[in-house]
Amino acid sequence: MMRETAWKSYDEATMKEVFSLADAYKQFISQCKTERECVKEAVRMAEAAGYVDLEEVIKSGKILKANDKVYANNMGKTLALFHIGQEPLENGMNILGAHVDSPRLDLKQVPLYEDGELAQLDTHYYGGIKYYQWVTLPLAIHGVVVKKDGSVIDVCIGEDDNDPVVGISDLLIHLSADQMTKKASRVIEGEDLNVMAGSIPLKGEEKEAVKANVLRILKDRYDMDEDDFLSAELEVVPAGKARDYGLDRSMVMGYGHDDRICAYTSLYALLKQNEVQRTAVCLLVDKEEVGSIGATGMQSKFFENSVAEVLDRMNDYSELKVRRALKNSKMLSSDVSAAFDPNYASVMEKNNAAYFGKGIVFNKYTGSRGKSGCNDANAEYLGELRAIMEQEKVFFQTAELGKVDQGGGGTIAYILAQYDMDVIDSGIALHNMHAPWEVASKADIYEATKAYQAFLKHAGTK
Ligand code: MN
Ligand code: MN
Repeated sequence: MMRETAWKSYDEATMKEVFSLADAYKQFISQCKTERECVKEAVRMAEAAGYVDLEEVIKSGKILKANDKVYANNMGKTLALFHIGQEPLENGMNILGAHVDSPRLDLKQVPLYEDGELAQLDTHYYGGIKYYQWVTLPLAIHGVVVKKDGSVIDVCIGEDDNDPVVGISDLLIHLSADQMTKKASRVIEGEDLNVMAGSIPLKGEEKEAVKANVLRILKDRYDMDEDDFLSAELEVVPAGKARDYGLDRSMVMGYGHDDRICAYTSLYALLKQNEVQRTAVCLLVDKEEVGSIGATGMQSKFFENSVAEVLDRMNDYSELKVRRALKNSKMLSSDVSAAFDPNYASVMEKNNAAYFGKGIVFNKYTGSRGKSGCNDANAEYLGELRAIMEQEKVFFQTAELGKVDQGGGGTIAYILAQYDMDVIDSGIALHNMHAPWEVASKADIYEATKAYQAFLKHAGTK
């Protein structure tokens, strides 16, 4: 049952493909560090591949037919793309899903203050992070500020070589006698993740002159006032580009692999389709890291509504057909897995761990403490997927997230499964999951795109 590494199977031409795909992916995650930036870029890529906005199709009254391509954009944070198939939609869709939000530090609504003649920005962390990993790193600020007149200002500070970066301080080792005795969860506390913003006082200003100077800079550069923070979404993320990792360049180190690595490869696979028998779908969703809630999380009715709109545009709408389309669908719900790490072998069970370079990971179930909260994919569905992967010569592996009693995690799989469709957790294995800089294997990125293409082509066709 030991699975082979994909690397040994690659000839020279394939190696070139593997590395050039990784280059394109590195560019994507270097540029897209928020859910909004991911959706914006995904729309750009989709339009270049012939996709049109579903809203425009609705407005024009155009009827959709086989091979038409549309996308539905939900508030700029969630995207559903449909490549209409030859079969009626009620026969079901082949759906690739992943999330585009990643762990980070969000600026609070009243973030800016001055203390000790230094300007600081207060944050509220988003998703599960180890606080101590986020200090003494170059950080960037990405996001939007919405003015009262509705205008939206895009903010990105810390990515251009000429930009400053920001960061969070840590205590010098010389004075850390008390700190070093604390538990790792308390060494740095969530409330202490304050971002350094400036130290020059504004001339002629008596009170809080350093803060005033930062506000002056924000006014000059973004025409924003202090109270505009109230209607802003500013995310503090690691500054800098994704890089090749390892002396052999076999891996990618970057921010936000979780889960943009599955989002990018899923989108890539969808955009590569020529003609599809069953309607092919890619779902890129927000808010997975905080429970998939809200209008832009997977629990929102957005996807179901979009399916209804698409059926209506095909002149084929009925409530029953919406339900059948969802029920008869098959889904790869993709999210990152933990790759075996020799530094932390004790939390893994080697026979059921994922390994770098062995291809896309299928997790029959996730969950924690006795599979609690998991989506347990049917054996029949796994049988179908194994056959598809073998037919298209895709490297795949199966895994659990660590030892039975070590912890666990959840994904969006269970939400789609509520429609009574076949859903399985799948995805790419990482080192350093949820750390500022995560690591993935280029072979796994490549095999994932092959797996997703094979799935879109064959799933549900037998
Ligand atoms: Mn994830
Ligand atoms: Mn995660």
